Amino acid sequence: MNMNVTQLPDNPYLLLTPGPLSTSKKVKAAMLRDWCTWDQDYNQLVQSIRSRLVKMASSQPDAYTTVLMQGSGTFSVESVIGSVIPRDGKLLVLTNGAYGKRIAEMAEVLGIDYVVMDDGETNPVNVKQLKEILQVDTAITHVAVVHVETTTGMINPIADVARVAKQYGKTVIVDAMSSFGGIPMDVAELGIDYLISSANKCIQGVPGFGFIIARIEALLTCTGQARSLSLDLYDQWEAMELGNGKWRYTSPTHTVRAFDQALLELEEEGGIARRYERFARNQQTLVEGMQRMGFQTLLSKELQSPIITSFLYPDSSVFSFEEFYSRIKEVGFVIYPGKITAASTFRIGNIGDVHLADIERLLENMENQLFWIVNTNK
Ligand SMILES: *Cc1c(COP(=O)(O)O)cnc(C)c1O
Repeated sequence: MNMNVTQLPDNPYLLLTPGPLSTSKKVKAAMLRDWCTWDQDYNQLVQSIRSRLVKMASSQPDAYTTVLMQGSGTFSVESVIGSVIPRDGKLLVLTNGAYGKRIAEMAEVLGIDYVVMDDGETNPVNVKQLKEILQVDTAITHVAVVHVETTTGMINPIADVARVAKQYGKTVIVDAMSSFGGIPMDVAELGIDYLISSANKCIQGVPGFGFIIARIEALLTCTGQARSLSLDLYDQWEAMELGNGKWRYTSPTHTVRAFDQALLELEEEGGIARRYERFARNQQTLVEGMQRMGFQTLLSKELQSPIITSFLYPDSSVFSFEEFYSRIKEVGFVIYPGKITAASTFRIGNIGDVHLADIERLLENMENQLFWIVNTNK
């Protein structure tokens, strides 16, 4: 496209959220054109995206496929939960936050037999206990786990979870919504059957669809068992395969085009390993700077992902998150409220088109906004 993207307006503030997040101007500019969902130009774009995603996710790309699904990330998770567990199957949900809980809610709504292992919001998924449950409850056929629990920023031990689940012959479902594209992972090596993510998180696209990296052999067993028409994972996959990149129903064409640009930018950055380094450096710099200002993190360092961090409210009767939030917004940054019940927290994300200089600028600006600290030096 012959367009000078610098002519696009700047965003009034940088989003330091887990998604939708700050995207590049080129990603936004990619949406300035209309596409026909039946035309080859568009369908080739879809096929290219599908195969690039598989190669990013799996060291054995031939054993895996990508299904793109309309809607936000939750729709993709629900399409997996509703499509891959047979009528006589049973799902074990490992949870330590809102997104794990949401998977259990889906099973409840869809009438799927399920059991929950809840480790509490500040503990990682307990693999020893997982083993004990699988030993006792032999009816379980599927195990679902969230990789980065965005509720807190916790990173769960998915390699250990998948290894144990596979030892017991279970199908493994991973919600990697907020981590895929930002943390290196290999679904083939880990033994993951279904990995779910979305356009508007670490890949740095805009919202509108999610995607599922599925092991083909597992997916082939899912025909005709979905509990929803529009979220039927198998049918969606079959239509994309047979139609060579066609979606069953109207596809989010502009979002898909922006996603293609976002993937290109990920490739240009040097792939997931380089992006991970950027995110990790952002996160580390953020935490060090916040700690210098007296903030404490909810989680200890070894449980913390490089994606989003929960900070405890400062111990002050004068502190108000709303006041802090609006002051930070005024200087150009949008942060995120907390989402847990165990403690009063707020969150700061460091994914998206966010770089070290942005984090440094945030920290500099924040220092002047600590209104609850009575400064005796001035
Ligand atoms: C963002 C997110 C989702 C999906 O959220 P949507 O609002 O539906 O896009 C699911 N799981 C995790 C871990 C997430 O971070």
